[in-house]
This record gives sequence, structure tokens and C-alpha cells, in this order.
Amino acid sequence: MERKPKRKTTNTSERKTVNKERKVNNKTSDKNSKPSSKRVDTKAEGAKDKKTEKKTATSRCPYSKKCGACQMIDVPYKKQLQIKHERVEKLLGKYGKVEAFMPMDNPEYYRCKVHAVFTHDRKGNPLSGIYKEGTHEVVPVDSCLLENQKADAIIATIRGMLKSFKIKTYDEDNGYGLFRHVLIRVGHNTGEIMVILVLTSPILPSKNNFVKALLKEHPEITTIVLNVNDKHTSMILGDKEKAIYGPGFIYDTVCGMKFKISPKSFYQVNPVQTEKLYSKAVELAGLTGKETILDCYCGVGTIGIIASPKAGEVISVELNGDAVKDARLNAKLNEIKNITVYENDASKFMVQMAEAGDHADVVFMDPPRSGSTEVFLSSMFKLNPDRVVYISCSPDSLANDLEIITNNGYKADRIIPVDMFPFTRSCETVVLLTKTTVKEV
Ligand code: SAH
Repeated sequence: MERKPKRKTTNTSERKTVNKERKVNNKTSDKNSKPSSKRVDTKAEGAKDKKTEKKTATSRCPYSKKCGACQMIDVPYKKQLQIKHERVEKLLGKYGKVEAFMPMDNPEYYRCKVHAVFTHDRKGNPLSGIYKEGTHEVVPVDSCLLENQKADAIIATIRGMLKSFKIKTYDEDNGYGLFRHVLIRVGHNTGEIMVILVLTSPILPSKNNFVKALLKEHPEITTIVLNVNDKHTSMILGDKEKAIYGPGFIYDTVCGMKFKISPKSFYQVNPVQTEKLYSKAVELAGLTGKETILDCYCGVGTIGIIASPKAGEVISVELNGDAVKDARLNAKLNEIKNITVYENDASKFMVQMAEAGDHADVVFMDPPRSGSTEVFLSSMFKLNPDRVVYISCSPDSLANDLEIITNNGYKADRIIPVDMFPFTRSCETVVLLTKTTVKEV
């Protein structure tokens, strides 16, 4: 059955059956279950190359021993890429040639989403920093080699302001105190900056003066949001939030398209590499302008929106209701008319499409760290796409899925790792799979 290109934009659909909340605002919130440079799932990724990753007595990062987030902070960049390449090769080499890593030219200060947890020392002096890996112990940090430098400077300014404003930082042990976290999101290409202050109560003392003082030091801030989190939880953001300066969100651009970033929106944390990753993914799809493409696990719609000018029709699917809203809005923002975003579990959606006898020419899939499901994949084979572009943040789960995909009529033509998280062990990979057999119809 042929699907006619729809003229309508991003409507809710009959396929909308699942609306499970997937919070994107927890400590590891970068990609629901995708890695952040701060909290890398070292266990799942295998604790390899211990020798080369060993920190020297004079580490270039004074916090490296306590923090533990950057396993390769003292490994030269070229060597880091070599180590990661060996790992990807070991896992994926049997499916095809693993090409060279797409590296960063300047692999530092790449994180445009920066989080600081606030606490105090014994004398009550405010401290800010990051959680020691796997604990709730705060490691005081002034500046981090991975984080956007403006963001770190804003956090330092806020820390310095708390005493004069008589604002008490939160104590996780007894639940007292107001000021819990600061989350900063920087639009790499727009220069817009959002500062999110996470408090236990909606009342920030001398709010107007606080905002004024912060803006005086950092006029580059474009919006400040007050978020209330009064729960004893490891989530950073609470449900309630209010803009106390500016619109309460920022925009950024990737591959020429504009995206709205709200406090809780998922958005890749390394914008320089994201641009390379998405461009490569769209290039690999070999679009001619006629194809029906499926963007599965679409988040806020990025890949499908970027690919849409080169496609006939884009069908996007995502489970997280907030992300779906953002994806629809982003499509409108860019005046994309050939895209429909469905809120559904990707596997269920694929089953429905397969049962309806639908076809897709190209499938983009960018699942969470755990990979896809057999149900998803078996339905995908029924849809019989010519090409599958698989983006993965876990070579382990990618290897499992490639085993199934390559046993069902596809071969891996290109395997390209992209360094999204320098100094950490994480490896992002984009794979082009093409059909090896022509299916009987
Ligand atoms: N492609 C997007 C987002 C990738 S992150 C981008 O590059 O920005 C993985 C996405 O998969 C998340 O947005 C998450 O909410 C979504 N997701 C997780 N499980 C899902 C499922 N079962 N069905 C559909 N989407 C799911």
C-alpha cells in the first residue's frame, strides 16, 4: 500500500496510542538514556584500556580523581580516538570496515548543557560542583574542561551572589535550604543562553534585584527560568517552572534548521559534532527528493526536519510527549510541510505500519542506549526499506542489532564513528545499511 504524501503538518494521529512520560530532566538527562560526559555508564561500556586511561599524578584536571567522569582526561586526543576506534572495530568490524572517527578540531569546552549542584561547606559557605560518579557526594568545581566556559562563569557568579542575597543552599541530608541546582543551556550558533535556577520553593528572595545583578555581570543571558523541585529526588528539574526573565526558552540552529530548546527538551550536548553527525546521517540516506522516510526515536524532530527538504514525506515517531510537542513546533518553526510526528512507542508504531502494508524507502533510527527491539526490527523488515541509517550511542547494543539486521537481507555499507564525547569512553556511530536482496512481492 502506497502512502500518499500528506499536506498537513504535524497533527496528532490515529496512531497515538502510547503516552508514557519519559523524563528528560534527570541527572543523566542528555538523551534519556544517552550518555553525558559527566555520567558515563562505565560498567555497561566495559572497563577497558585501564592502563592507557590511568590518570597521572599531575592530571590536567584538578578534579579528575574525585569526579571520575572523564576516563581519558590525560590521554592525548589522537590516542583517545585510537582507543575508541579499536573498541568499535572489535564490536562492529565483522559487519564491515570501520572508518576513521570524525574527530573534533578543538575537543574541549564542547558541552552546551551544563549542570551544577549547589551545597555548602561546614561553615555554611556556598559550594557548587558535580556529583562524584555514582554518588551524591558533591565535588566542588570551578571550571570544567568539557563545559562551555560562559556557562561555568555564570555558575561561579551565581555562587558568589548567594551570600549577599542571604540565600541558603539546599542540604540533601536534612532537606533544608532553598537553592539546589543551576542548569545552563547555550545555543551554540545563536549565542542565546538560558539559566535555570532550581529551588525548593517558588519564592526567590529579592528576585528582581537578583536578576538585575546577574544580568549586570552577564548581559549575554537571554532568559532565566525558576524551576521548583521540592522533592527528595535525584532528578534535577521539578515539574513547575516560570520564566523570571525573557521568554523561558532559547533557540539554536543545526544544519540550517532552527530548534526551540525548553528547560526539559532533549538536545544533543555537543553542537559542533551534532552538526557533523546529522549531516553525515542525511548524506548516507542518499535522498533524491521523492523518498518516504521514517525517523524513529525522533526526539524533538531534528533528523527528520533536517532531511525533509530532500524527501517526499517524513514520518517521525517518538514516545516522549514533551519531545513530540517540540518536534511538531520545530516543524512549524521551519515551515516544513511534509512531516507528520506521531506520539507512540516505536516498536508498536512499526507493527502498525507493517500490518497496514505500508512502505518506507529510508528508515532513520536513533534509539536509546539499550538499542532497538526485535519487534521493531522484524516489522522494519516487512516495511522493506532500501536503506536504513542507524545512529547509535552504544556500540554494544548496535552490535546486537546489526547481527539481526545483517541476517535479514541488509549489509553495512558504511560504519562511521563520530566523537561526540571527547575525554570519555563513549562512542557514537552512524551506520548505513542497504538491502542485499530484492524482496518478492
Ligand atoms: N533522534 C533524536 C533523539 C534520539 S534520543 C536526536 O538526535 O535528537 C532517543 C529518543 O528515543 C529519545 O527522544 C527517547 O524519548 C526516544 N525513545 C525512547 N524509547 C522509545 C520508544 N520505545 N519508542 C519511541 N521513542 C523512544
